[in-house]
Amino acid sequence: MAENCNHDCSSCGENCASRDPKSFLKQPHKLSKIKKVIAVVSGKGGVGKSMTCALLACAAQNEGYNTAIMDADITGPSIPKMFGIHERAMGSEAGILPVLTDRGMQVMSMNVLLNNEEDPVVWRGSLISGTVQQFWTDVIWADVDYMFIDMPPGTGDVPLTIFQSIPLDGIVIVTTPQDLVGMIVKKAVNMAGMMNIPILGVAENMSYITCPDCGRKISVFGDSKVDAIALEYGITNVVKVPIDRSLTDAADAGKIEMFDHNYYESFFQNIDAQLKNK
Ligand code: ADP
Repeated sequence: MAENCNHDCSSCGENCASRDPKSFLKQPHKLSKIKKVIAVVSGKGGVGKSMTCALLACAAQNEGYNTAIMDADITGPSIPKMFGIHERAMGSEAGILPVLTDRGMQVMSMNVLLNNEEDPVVWRGSLISGTVQQFWTDVIWADVDYMFIDMPPGTGDVPLTIFQSIPLDGIVIVTTPQDLVGMIVKKAVNMAGMMNIPILGVAENMSYITCPDCGRKISVFGDSKVDAIALEYGITNVVKVPIDRSLTDAADAGKIEMFDHNYYESFFQNIDAQLKNK
């Protein structure tokens, strides 16, 4: 116990034995109904975390689940653009309503709250963390089977707040072959371990390209290392997704839901099975 303990864990940063990890959990809005929550994390930006989050959500939707995305990447929100969302979120006295995609997925993002979606968010970490918590406490999420959270990259202040305040069922780690894979996956694994959150799978994005002439897989960023890492940490659910120009085009055109190659179908089914057996 800390020297000057006042028994109020909410205002104390010490990691002592009397801390109850559940003490930080926030209640969702009283009108929300959310069954499973999965955070999509990466060690650094630009590896395709948002793309993976979007495609995983589409895979869940394709399986017939009511799906939602919480875009917690407050300073670099890219989910609305991928789904072609340009309208603002509506609110009432009861709370804020998520915006719906063409196929009925619920989305909340900083970009649907800003007056102008090109305005930058130049905020300190505490304000960003507070906003993400409000996405959980003040948004009315209707009947969600699977919520995917597009996390800010890294293991900083905001991801930590999300890990502590939202009851996650598990995380998916996104990496690329040229990442310092071992170290970055290890950091994420350790963070999840500290928080007692299961790792539901690892996605190696931009794993290879397929030669348009001969069909051979070319490892442009070096050989895949994800299988060895997954084995080391006992992670059995792994997916390798290629660099696919039609993916970028679909995302840029706001048509990610219409993208017809389901790279994440069996990866999501594996997650679904893990959570059903929980
Ligand atoms: P992050 O969320 O990790 O910062 P994004 O998901 O925003 O990364 O992806 C960065 C860029 O790379 C985007 O323009 C996205 O469309 C593109 N991208 C991501 N994954 C792929 C892929 N597998 N094939 C082609 N382009 C991709």
